Amino acid sequence: MEPARSSISDELDAALARFGQVDDPQARTRYEQDWSGDHVGRARTVLRPRSTAEVQEIVRRCAAANVPVVPQGGHTGLVGGGTPTADGREVVVSLERMNRIRRIDPAGFSMVAEAGCILEAVQNAAKEADLYFPLSLSAEGSCQIGGNIATNAGGINVLRYGMTRELVLGLEVVLPDGRLFEGLGGLRKDNTGYDLKQLFIGAEGTLGIVTAATLKLYPRPTQVETALLGLPSVTHAVELFAQARRDMGDLLSAFELMPRRCVELGLEVMTDLRDPFDPAPVYILMEASTGGLIDLRSIMERFLERAMEEGRVVDGAVATSGAQARDFWRLREGLIEAQVRRGRHLRTDVSIPISAIPAFIEKAEGALLAFAPGCMPLSYGHIGDGNIHLNVVPPAGMAPDEVLPFLRRCEEIVFAELDCLGGSISAEHGIGSKKRAAFLARKPPVQLDLMKRIKLALDPAQVMNPGRILD
Ligand SMILES: Cc1cc2nc3c(=O)[nH]c(=O)nc-3n(C[C@H](O)[C@H](O)[C@H](O)COP(=O)(O)OP(=O)(O)OC[C@H]3O[C@@H](n4cnc5c(N)ncnc54)[C@H](O)[C@@H]3O)c2cc1C
Repeated sequence: MEPARSSISDELDAALARFGQVDDPQARTRYEQDWSGDHVGRARTVLRPRSTAEVQEIVRRCAAANVPVVPQGGHTGLVGGGTPTADGREVVVSLERMNRIRRIDPAGFSMVAEAGCILEAVQNAAKEADLYFPLSLSAEGSCQIGGNIATNAGGINVLRYGMTRELVLGLEVVLPDGRLFEGLGGLRKDNTGYDLKQLFIGAEGTLGIVTAATLKLYPRPTQVETALLGLPSVTHAVELFAQARRDMGDLLSAFELMPRRCVELGLEVMTDLRDPFDPAPVYILMEASTGGLIDLRSIMERFLERAMEEGRVVDGAVATSGAQARDFWRLREGLIEAQVRRGRHLRTDVSIPISAIPAFIEKAEGALLAFAPGCMPLSYGHIGDGNIHLNVVPPAGMAPDEVLPFLRRCEEIVFAELDCLGGSISAEHGIGSKKRAAFLARKPPVQLDLMKRIKLALDPAQVMNPGRILD
């Protein structure tokens, strides 16, 4: 006779409980919602394994019982990928206790880190070895390297060092049936067949749980020049970027666009900061960095001289100390905080051809303001990657039950402009559950078919983060 379903279920729960289960309902809420608070769910249970073998054991047991698993890092993802659904069916597997740096190889410029290492800890471990791990984003004090890999995170240094994908030399992944993909070797050149590790990078936990990674390190920059510049328009910002690429080549590491309204929001939160110079319509926060014998200060000065002569830059300041450079960056961080303080708002992270950025911002903001004159569109981002965050704060005083439908309509307006320019609905944050419908409506059928076949080949029972990216 077959055992009753409830006894199988009880057996599973009892077996899973020893893997760092979070028992306290209050403590569990941290794992059942994301950083923004926009996505809230209810987990069947929350587990915090300490080793790869434990992750394998959890996944094997869940797969056998057909119970879905949600891998979870630092919950800073913004598309509902790592938050359990509301039905209480999914087992959350938090990697937070797998947080060891396993080894650093200074000669090979690489490091093996467990998935639960906070990004900032990875950066610091590299620094202690006089090396540099370039992935950097404002969530770096909370997000985990496993989450960064699962979302193929970008951040402020993509221009110079690429997305996370380009920083990963090898991976260790627990597959949806519990087997282990052992690929930490970390060779820089390996042309033996398909490069399978690429499948797991940016897969948002739908193809397996990343438990460790071999990461690419770089020589630590010994010179960093940070400048905050005032420009007449977004078109000038695009022209300035082209000039910076020509004048500075690969020394350019960040080139961030912030229209005046964004700087005002930054100042609102960072109350100890002052307006750095007379207000300008548009600001660029740029950074160049290098090691070696190059005289970076002189290159930056010559670049800015020409930019001012040619009218692309109207005013600006080059940081004279690390503290001043930090303050420039705090303006940008304050901008994010100021939006959070305004409550639920639309966040997008679209990408478009760099040359189309001015037209995109003008048309999309124009369409949004025509739809809702009282809303606040904010367009800022990594201009050198063609990646703009066009966010929308709803009009003040909007009734709470009107906010979500309003934001959905705003998203449609933004995406419609994007479609006209051949852009992508996600440059960085991914699809998760939030953007699934918009993604499925846009991805070409052949690409969608291949993605579904890959998912089914690796996860035929669909237990690994189901409903994220694909349905
Ligand atoms: C303030 C702020 C600023 C941000 N800035 C940027 C930015 O500049 N650039 C950018 O790209 N992103 C940015 N993000 C979003 C970005 O995706 C996340 O910060 C980060 O990469 C996610 O890592 P996490 O550990 O928090 O993952 P989580 O949020 O926990 O999870 C994200 C996804 O990855 C999966 N996942 C997590 N860990 C694993 C694992 N070990 N194995 C398999 N799957 C896993 C989850 O299931 C989920 O689908 C920002 C977010 C915030 C809140």
